[in-house]
Amino acid sequence: MEPDIEKISAEAAKLGCIIEENALLKNYTTFRIGGKCSLLIKPVSEESFSVLIPLAEKLDVPYYIFGKGSNLIVDSDGINGIVFVIGKDFSGISFRNDETMICLSGTPLSQICLSALENSLTGMEFAYGIPGTLGGAVFMNAGAYGGEMKDIIHSVKAMDIKGNYKEYFPDELDFAYRRSRFTNSGEIIISAEIRLEKGSRSEIKEKMDKLMEQRRSRQPLEFPSAGSTFKRPAGSYASLLIEQCGLKGTHVGDAEVSTKHSGFIINKGNADFSQLMELIGIVKDTVKNKTGYVLECEPQIISDKITTERNDGR
Ligand SMILES: Cc1cc2nc3c(=O)[nH]c(=O)nc-3n(C[C@H](O)[C@H](O)[C@H](O)COP(=O)(O)OP(=O)(O)OC[C@H]3O[C@@H](n4cnc5c(N)ncnc54)[C@H](O)[C@@H]3O)c2cc1C
Repeated sequence: MEPDIEKISAEAAKLGCIIEENALLKNYTTFRIGGKCSLLIKPVSEESFSVLIPLAEKLDVPYYIFGKGSNLIVDSDGINGIVFVIGKDFSGISFRNDETMICLSGTPLSQICLSALENSLTGMEFAYGIPGTLGGAVFMNAGAYGGEMKDIIHSVKAMDIKGNYKEYFPDELDFAYRRSRFTNSGEIIISAEIRLEKGSRSEIKEKMDKLMEQRRSRQPLEFPSAGSTFKRPAGSYASLLIEQCGLKGTHVGDAEVSTKHSGFIINKGNADFSQLMELIGIVKDTVKNKTGYVLECEPQIISDKITTERNDGR
């Protein structure tokens, strides 16, 4: 390990964080694609962030934030630097009042949805089945079936790269389609308050079950993926355009445009980053040439080779 990374590793150990050297990142993404990083740290407390992030900044060590890795495409050649995985070691739910939940950013969305159900709270059913953490969902303004995180977030506590904390309210969060202020701010999402409404437990359960069933029947959940590979372009749907262009089943190695849902690219076994990026390129070029629509990649691309337009997918 480089001396600066070793310093950060030693501090992380003092703070009780879980540390993995040369961690294989395919184990931390739902695409099951990704090489090694120099050091992986699972923070366990707010202090972990306020000490380690400013230290990495000071030492100029590159770092990345992962939640569940369900909206990430990670380079198979690995990345130089540290990956902070904010997951179950930094999770938890408490209640401010009957209708407001406070959730740490590593809490799985599914757990929050089940807690809402348990407490007969409605408004979050749309998120049941999105396989991410609260932090990733706020960052992406995740949404489905007519709902989005922006509809239920009351406030977000975040930390900047110097270690200063701030609470943001909806008018400061810049939520838009699969974007938030965090897309560009570099801040770490620590926790969020979710405001729901009292409802009927049986109706909430029925809605959650129905939406989960729709996912199971329409999405290729039996294969690794990052969900929808492309954002919805204004005026159409990525899956419709891809299907119209005859791209269903197109593959590069084990990376394949799903035959079940053409909006998903799936990993049928041993797909790697370059195969996935080549397939994304083929889909984008074909759709642009045949329909004029420009598709934009939804997952974040994590690669040392792609330094600009990280979210462009090429
Ligand atoms: C089968 C499947 C179905 C899906 N269905 C949907 C869907 O219906 N709707 C939808 O919107 N998405 C969907 N997704 C995509 C994905 O699950 C969501 O975008 C999810 O919110 C990402 O959360 P995550 O924890 O996995 O974030 P990650 O993928 O780990 O990270 C996403 C981005 O958020 C940043 N980030 C994560 N946590 C933090 C934090 N605490 N602080 C700062 N930045 C952070 C990361 O740096 C990264 O840039 C699906 C994915 C799969 C695999």
